Amino acid sequence: MIDYQKGTRMKEIFQYIQDKQQEYLEELFTFLRCKSVSSYNDGIKECAQLLSEIMEKSGIQTAIYPTQGNPVVYGEIIEDSALPTMLIYGHYDVQPPEPLDEWNSPPFEPTIREGKIYCRGVSDDKSQLYTHIKAVEAWKKTKGRYPVNVKFLFEGEEEIGSPNLLPFVESHKELLSCDVCFYSDSHFHENGKPQINLGVKGLCYVEITIENAKTDMHSMMATSIQNPAWRLVQLLNTMYDSEGHICIEGFYDDVRPISNLEIEAVNKIPVNEKELCEVYGVREFIHGPHSKNFYYNLIFEPTCNISGLTSGYTGPGSKTVLPRQASVKIDMRLVPDQDPEKILKALRLHLNRHGFEDAKMTHYGMVMPSRTRIDHLYVSAAVNAVKLGFEEEPILFPGIGGVAPDFVFTGHINVPTIVIPYAAADQKNHAPNESMVMDGFIKGLRTSAALPYYLAQIGRKGKQE
Ligand SMILES: [Zn+2]
Repeated sequence: MIDYQKGTRMKEIFQYIQDKQQEYLEELFTFLRCKSVSSYNDGIKECAQLLSEIMEKSGIQTAIYPTQGNPVVYGEIIEDSALPTMLIYGHYDVQPPEPLDEWNSPPFEPTIREGKIYCRGVSDDKSQLYTHIKAVEAWKKTKGRYPVNVKFLFEGEEEIGSPNLLPFVESHKELLSCDVCFYSDSHFHENGKPQINLGVKGLCYVEITIENAKTDMHSMMATSIQNPAWRLVQLLNTMYDSEGHICIEGFYDDVRPISNLEIEAVNKIPVNEKELCEVYGVREFIHGPHSKNFYYNLIFEPTCNISGLTSGYTGPGSKTVLPRQASVKIDMRLVPDQDPEKILKALRLHLNRHGFEDAKMTHYGMVMPSRTRIDHLYVSAAVNAVKLGFEEEPILFPGIGGVAPDFVFTGHINVPTIVIPYAAADQKNHAPNESMVMDGFIKGLRTSAALPYYLAQIGRKGKQE
């Protein structure tokens, strides 16, 4: 169905990219030098401005939209309404560079060492989103037009949890209407092979507190006064069994059935458990209630994880005390179609049913899970683009263990969302010495340019899927 003749159609464009490599690197470096730390608002405005200038220069009509927080940089090329429209998402904000003394070169001075570019934000997400901008330029300069319609949505708050992304999308639905969303903000498989991600987990974060008395007391009172820490242990015991099932009534009710194609894909993901155990310094992995496969569990099993437990005296040496309260912080990573609000209600009911009506619940974050069908026609466009750009077959991940704002696109614009990462697994994003492997950047440029070519081959019929 797809005209896959290696390089013939893209030859001229790939040549253009190769000829422009040095120029692109210099422009990327200017983008990287522009600080854009969202958590303490350093350089955000300037960086949004610079990004829009880079886009304009590449032939994209651009506008900066204010939000309640940091601005959204939007761009578009509408060639023909009969062509498919893709939305490219990305973020121009970066994590703070601290701790500064752990960097081997200044965090905002891009430096090349041993085939990698080091700089804060280089992989997360500046150089990855930049490849999609330059794909436009390469097409326009060689073919005179882009082969599909494209819209760019670059936000400046991803690193602080995207608080204004959904409100922006909700209030600009017409502007953002499209057939498919792609983005590049992740990394390859740890074996160095390119991968494509089709989903993310959701998140429901709660703190449960049991308060039993006005003050901490002498521990001799343990004969007569209930210890909230013991009660919290009993409460937690009702939530999880020895086989790894989460025992909150209704917890699994909305879990989407896993398709045979998804199982097949997961079975093909290379995994070296022994090596991974060494990385984490553990003897072995526990298994989920349904599978022994590491990636099956990472992608398809929801979790109920204790993130922190606090009660009584935790300082050095001993202190006998009967604590007045005990609390636990729990993060639940959810899979499609578990809804964090429903899970929260189910947890409240569960606690009441087990005699813990007095346990207080505070919730912090909620993110919806998302997954795009593995046999969606537009997935094949991404697969073919990677094949051509990297000259390698990508590993298909039906989902990943992490959280990202995919549901904003799959749930609110109702389009498939496909992640094509260009960074290496050891990119160290969020940490000192963040890097982008040069090879990933160059091949990413090629892949981003090949993507609209394959999308055009499929046309708008993918939309009807
Ligand atoms: Zn990112």
